[in-house]
Amino acid sequence: MVSESKSPYLRAVLESIPAYKPGRKVVGPDGRSMKLSSNESPYGPLPSVREAIARAAADLNRYPDPGSTELVTRLAAHLGVPEEHVTLGAGSVGLLQQLLATVGEPGAEIVYAWRSFEAYPLLVGLSGAESVQVPLKDETHDLEALLDAITDDTRMVLVCNPNNPTGTTVRERELVDFLDRVPDHVLVVLDEAYREYVRDAQTPDGVALYADRPNVAVLRTFSKAYGLAAVRLGFLVAHPHVTAAVQKTLVPFAVNHLAQAAGIASLDAEDELLERVATTVKERERVREALLASGWTVPPTEANFVWLRAGQDTLDFAAACAEVGVSVRPFDGEGVRVSIGTPEENDTFLAVATTYAKRR
Ligand code: PMP
Repeated sequence: MVSESKSPYLRAVLESIPAYKPGRKVVGPDGRSMKLSSNESPYGPLPSVREAIARAAADLNRYPDPGSTELVTRLAAHLGVPEEHVTLGAGSVGLLQQLLATVGEPGAEIVYAWRSFEAYPLLVGLSGAESVQVPLKDETHDLEALLDAITDDTRMVLVCNPNNPTGTTVRERELVDFLDRVPDHVLVVLDEAYREYVRDAQTPDGVALYADRPNVAVLRTFSKAYGLAAVRLGFLVAHPHVTAAVQKTLVPFAVNHLAQAAGIASLDAEDELLERVATTVKERERVREALLASGWTVPPTEANFVWLRAGQDTLDFAAACAEVGVSVRPFDGEGVRVSIGTPEENDTFLAVATTYAKRR
């Protein structure tokens, strides 16, 4: 037995961060396993993307291009922004960690809505800064309350739009008004991981909003609509003083060669990928309508998931889904987030959800 007193000193904040627990794979009686818990695309990579990855595999003995030059050029052209305004990271979560390394330190405050993306409190804690959580109002960001929470110590405000896990969005008029009133010393990060699924015309496009605002940055990802969650590729759009600072915090070569090749091939195949997104959006509306008809409360969603306010039934309902092989994301006492899968997967989920609603 090794004595703890001889162990190295560790940062106290790590005690407040739960150890990673791998999600349990749930299997139904027919052997099927349907993962609707991580908001991934249900579709595998396109043949053209797979081929690009296979070709890139021939160069794995070399370090990747540290600046992801070709992909940055392609993305900047695609978004209609200057190249210095784009930087890549190992997933948008990797970029968020970089952003926090850029502005976070003991004494700094990071303001965000709650409930929102589970990674926020963990990454803020790791950066040494303090989380300031502002409750959602009607399942949506309360922008007035977020403004009220800003102090001289605030370094960043995160706005998750659409919000994970509720799927709700803030509207353009309110967001513009909010951005106009946020003090200049505060970086506003618009986390738009689910942007491609947005159909509501009043939900703003962060890339249009950041252009004349030096304190606004937009986070996007290849993990969801582009179906590349496993390669870890996200990007940040911001003014050069922000992107240049963020680049200094990248773990060297963290944006790997396969990810860069997959990103370029995905931009080439965007039409095909957006067709898949359209299918998911159609399914989202079908799933929500069916849930509402069976008595569930489900806010309108602009993302690839739905949020069921299951309250005290949350864990029990998640267990009922697991019994038929569907894994969902429960937040005890609050609700369940369910990703939109293939039509068959959605039907399996809806069968459980409608039966459950009847006996609730
Ligand atoms: N932001 C939000 C709001 C998310 O829900 C997710 C994924 N769950 C991410 C960022 C992270 O995506 P990735 O790191 O795979 O790009």
